[in-house]
Order: sequence, then C-alpha cells, then structure tokens
Amino acid sequence: MAFELPPLPYPKTALEPYIDALTMEIHHGKHHAAYVANLNKAIAGYPELEAKPIEAILSDLSSVPEKIRTAVRNNGGGHYAHTLFWNIMGPNAGGSPTGELADEIKATFGSFDAFKEKFEAEGLARFGSGWVWLFVNKAGKLEIASTPNHDAPIMGMGIAGCEGKPIMVCDVWEHAYYLKYQNRRGDFLKAWWNVVNWAAVTRYYQDAKKSVVVG
Ligand code: MN
Repeated sequence: MAFELPPLPYPKTALEPYIDALTMEIHHGKHHAAYVANLNKAIAGYPELEAKPIEAILSDLSSVPEKIRTAVRNNGGGHYAHTLFWNIMGPNAGGSPTGELADEIKATFGSFDAFKEKFEAEGLARFGSGWVWLFVNKAGKLEIASTPNHDAPIMGMGIAGCEGKPIMVCDVWEHAYYLKYQNRRGDFLKAWWNVVNWAAVTRYYQDAKKSVVVG
C-alpha cells in the first residue's frame, strides 16, 4: 500500500482538556484512517501515484487521471491536512511564536492578537466543513485563508481559491470538535491556541520559506 496512517505524535489524552481523548481517538483512528484507506483504494493500479509523496500529488492534481481525481483530491487532501494538523499540535504547547516567525506575523497582521483574531474569524466564516490555514504564499508572505472540504493551498488557486505552502492548520469540520464543543466552533477555535506547537509551526515556516521562489 502506498500510504499509511501515521501514528499520533503524542498520546490521545495529551491535548486534554482542550481536545478530549475520545475526539482524538475517533478523529485519528476512524476519520483520518478512512481517508488513507480511500486514497489507497483510489490510486491502486497507478504505480506512478503510489510512488509519489502526497504533497507532490496534490500540487499537480491536473496530472491525476480524471476518473480518480475527485477521490484523490478529497481523500489525499484529507490525509495531507490531518497529518499537518497532528504535527503542529502538542501537549505543553500554546503561548506565542518567537524569532523570525513572530516578527513576520507582526509585520503581516499588525500583532499576534490581530493574527489570532483573523485566523478565528476565517475559521468561523467557513460554512460547512473545511479548514483554516496559515501559509507562505507565492510572494513569500504569510497569508490566512479557509478552504472547503479537504482542499488545501498546495492544490493551487484554481482548486483551493488560495495558493502557498501551509505551515499551520486547524480542522473546522464538526467531527473535530462536536463531542466537546457541540455547535460552539468559536469556543473550540479559542481553546485550540493552547495546543498549538509553535516550535513545529516554525519548522514548517522555515521549510516553506526555503522552497518559495520570490519574484
Ligand atoms: Mn478532520
């Protein structure tokens, strides 16, 4: 099989009380697992896709055969987004970023608080299921945008309505918060800052900056 469900990088209880263990168990072990299984089902018989990293497949969806393209977009997008989501959270996290990322957030959004406000507002404004992203755009600048379903900025403007290299993401599908927060997505988004691992976001930021060609 081409893709595997990555283990959670911490125990399912690690993000309590902000994200409860049962939500983590179902979200990772059932939802994410199903996206990986359905992605593998879609690309079975396409060895050139099975050999590619997920980022490479999603950033070139037009080269995916049309009859499996929607399945790859939805399930591959789900695999990619959830993997990033788990990786940028952690226990004993929260607080605020430091160094170049902190400076860039301040330069782009005015202040860390203004950045958080904009990120939460984008997450709240997303109707139905989707994601809110922080990414490095093609100009090398930080940008916040939300996408529907499992679309991601690496899929490009024509598909996702935004384009760039994601460095942080929050899942705003109801399955991400409903057991604990029910309809209160805004409360989930506010609590979520307590589990953001800024050291991890900073590593994604440094990688994204390296791969963006400005100009
Ligand atoms: Mn999810």
